[in-house]
Amino acid sequence: MICRLCPRGCEAERTETAGGGYCRMPSLPVVARAALHRWEEPPISGTRGSGAVFFSGCPLDCVFCQNDGISHQDFGKKISVSRLRQIFLELIGRGAHNINLVNPTHFAHAVAAALDVPLPVPVVWNSGGYDRVETLRALTGKVQIYLPDLKYLTAELAGRYSGAADYPRAAVAAIREMVRQTGPYVLENGMLRSGVLIRHLILPGCLPEAKRVMDWVAESFPPGTVLFSLMRQYVPLGRAGEFPEINRRLRASEARAAEGYMADLGLEGFVQEDASADAGFVPAFDLTGV
Ligand code: SF4
Repeated sequence: MICRLCPRGCEAERTETAGGGYCRMPSLPVVARAALHRWEEPPISGTRGSGAVFFSGCPLDCVFCQNDGISHQDFGKKISVSRLRQIFLELIGRGAHNINLVNPTHFAHAVAAALDVPLPVPVVWNSGGYDRVETLRALTGKVQIYLPDLKYLTAELAGRYSGAADYPRAAVAAIREMVRQTGPYVLENGMLRSGVLIRHLILPGCLPEAKRVMDWVAESFPPGTVLFSLMRQYVPLGRAGEFPEINRRLRASEARAAEGYMADLGLEGFVQEDASADAGFVPAFDLTGV
């Protein structure tokens, strides 16, 4: 395939075995882990866990990436689309509340094919928010829950920390398309059945950016439309050491100020626990379930 799946639009040739674009991935899905996952927001994890499938490679290049080993060092196993479908069914058989596609952007074509026949549980598109609107449109009806990051609204920050100065423009368009597809969120017995849950990870020293993101969400969507998740789990992993200003944990005062801002805006959603700021929360990428 000649790939234009994500906003990079590399037009690189991706064969079943070799990748040529920015994400470096072949056309066959590459997966590092598939397991029940309990560390998402409560209406995603529920009591039994979310059926998380972690894809390797990434169209972004976040210097603080928690999943550097799979996202940038490309650890994972190449599998067929039919094996991907089988993995979904195995997770559902183990009680997964949903199928949670973690970082699926560059495998949208394979995911769409694996979902030709609907699953009995909701499908969660858990992406960095760097999705192309046309690619998302092809997923209409196949994805019930969108779980995008909104990492930045400032091009300079997006370029510096994720290698994608066009991220704000792309993510804003992608999130609008996601909301257009799902409509207002629907909770059933405490579980998210459909809708959009927007995540923002607060970066050290970037409280103004977190406020800008929350302002955008509040101004863009009327109450009852989307859920918002404020993440304070930042740990300086990956290449964060090369950027002294973010090579530290988040201060409690920064987290508190962001939480207060979210409450003042009346954003509905979640604030991540303090205890989640621990490198031990990064899952083991060891081909479990693949
Ligand atoms: S998915 Fe990969 S190859 Fe395709 S446009 Fe994006 S970065 Fe390039």
